[in-house]
Amino acid sequence: MAAREDQGPETTDLICCRCERLCDPIDVETCPVCKQLFCTFCTYRIGSRSYCSRACGDSFFFGGGDEEDGDE
Ligand SMILES: [Zn+2]
Ligand SMILES: [Zn+2]
Repeated sequence: MAAREDQGPETTDLICCRCERLCDPIDVETCPVCKQLFCTFCTYRIGSRSYCSRACGDSFFFGGGDEEDGDE
């Protein structure tokens, strides 16, 4: 907590990977599958989680990505 740099508005690129819109931080989430940012408008929900796309959601939900099995 000591080294907090300037507290200006963060200019991280919060671009939705789907619609490529510049979003507010509260409007974006990170896809647990592809690690890309997606906005609330592009959210694909399956189970109790949100994903950037149906492809990601389905692959995670049905693809057995529930637990890492120590297989690198
Ligand atoms: Zn979007
Ligand atoms: Zn994704």
